[in-house]
Amino acid sequence: TKPVLQVDHLDKYFNAAKGQTLQAVRDVSFHIEKGETFGLVGESGCGKTTVGRTIMGLYDKTAGDVFYDGQNVHELDKQATFAFYRNMQMIFQDPYASLNPRSTVKDVIAEPMEVHGLYTAKQAQLDRVLALLEEVGLNRDHANRYPHEFSGGQRQRIGIARALALDPDFIVADEPISALDVSVQAQVINLLQRLQQEKGLTFLFIAHDLSMVKQISDRIGVMYLGNMVELTSSESLYQQPLHPYTQALMSAIPIPDPAIEDTRERIILKGDLPSPINPPSGCVFRTRCPFAMAICSSKVPEWREVTQDHYVACHLYNDVPEQSSPEAAAQQ
Ligand code: SF4
Repeated sequence: TKPVLQVDHLDKYFNAAKGQTLQAVRDVSFHIEKGETFGLVGESGCGKTTVGRTIMGLYDKTAGDVFYDGQNVHELDKQATFAFYRNMQMIFQDPYASLNPRSTVKDVIAEPMEVHGLYTAKQAQLDRVLALLEEVGLNRDHANRYPHEFSGGQRQRIGIARALALDPDFIVADEPISALDVSVQAQVINLLQRLQQEKGLTFLFIAHDLSMVKQISDRIGVMYLGNMVELTSSESLYQQPLHPYTQALMSAIPIPDPAIEDTRERIILKGDLPSPINPPSGCVFRTRCPFAMAICSSKVPEWREVTQDHYVACHLYNDVPEQSSPEAAAQQ
């Protein structure tokens, strides 16, 4: 199948103080297929949100390309940009901050429809808003209330209803559940999964919590300090994490079944996250990696397909042939 989204060697840099450059995203490549959920995971500051926003066209790219449905999203004319935003919508981490506190829920959900001139008849628009409220598990009677009258989980449902207002194909969900209570997180995940099945949605799911991403994702990309370091299916990543950083993240996830004794060795990362203004030479993870070797400081590790569709950028796997990006061999 043809990927619906293709990210090729994406760089995104920002100007920082004193004429310095913050290298938020460096040489990131991956694709997402229609109907798939792709999880992008890493600590805060790893660049995953910047990837999401650059894909959405909210940030200009520094280098590389992003193709959505075969079109370069940074080269769309005005009309094509308008159509693009009907197809691609975003769900944010903090539902409260993303909702206008002075608008009723009805107006919050209707706003994208008005911007895109979807309905000329007010009643048709209202009917659609009420139907959306029901779709996300809220009561129709809530339409005239204000965001502050709702719980965090309900506000995220309002945010999801708003994202669905234009009937998009693709949703970038940026930490959609990390601000919610654990009990509510599962409900929102279930809602997203149900909506995906019903509507054939494609998701880019951005999160810092690997256990959360595992539940919902088909494939996962792990990011560290602006770089993607590992890319494979959710299953393969959990069964056999290859990159030392992924191994450390995995060792921090508690085993859910209390009957199973946790004999795993917890990998504690030494040191702090380096600054993306002055990232380490060679492998960006080398200052915290328990396996760092001499080559790790002099050479950026190339991508290698260690087992089928399991890609990693790490010198520990230098006996496997190198490729210019994950999936590069598969695309040829
Ligand atoms: Fe560690 Fe070297 Fe692999 Fe980087 S390339 S993760 S420093 S072993």
